[in-house]
Amino acid sequence: MQSRHEKVEAALELLRCASSRRLSLKDALSIVCMVTKLSEEVLREAVKRGIIRREGREIVILAEPAKARCRRHRCDAVCRRCGRRIKLCHYLHTGGFELGPYGSECIRKIAHTLSRDSA
Ligand SMILES: [Zn+2]
Repeated sequence: MQSRHEKVEAALELLRCASSRRLSLKDALSIVCMVTKLSEEVLREAVKRGIIRREGREIVILAEPAKARCRRHRCDAVCRRCGRRIKLCHYLHTGGFELGPYGSECIRKIAHTLSRDSA
């Protein structure tokens, strides 16, 4: 298991992978929650480091965009996000982090959130 520090770093990296530079707070939180439940800590750290700026119910990503790649393979594991038993594990690779495993449903949900255009 990753340490608290690593989880925060990985969540910050994943936030940078959003294709829109402006996200609703809800979307930002759902991205962060893929990695850790420490969402408030992650957002505080992101503001402190100039990675994001908060604007009411939205956040603006100030850091350079990053990319996440997805790899998958057969497995017998538990989805990191929802805790369901999964047979096909998806892992997100970004900035030297490997995040997962996630089930098909959760990976689809996060891919959708990450690729959402700003409203
Ligand atoms: Zn899941």
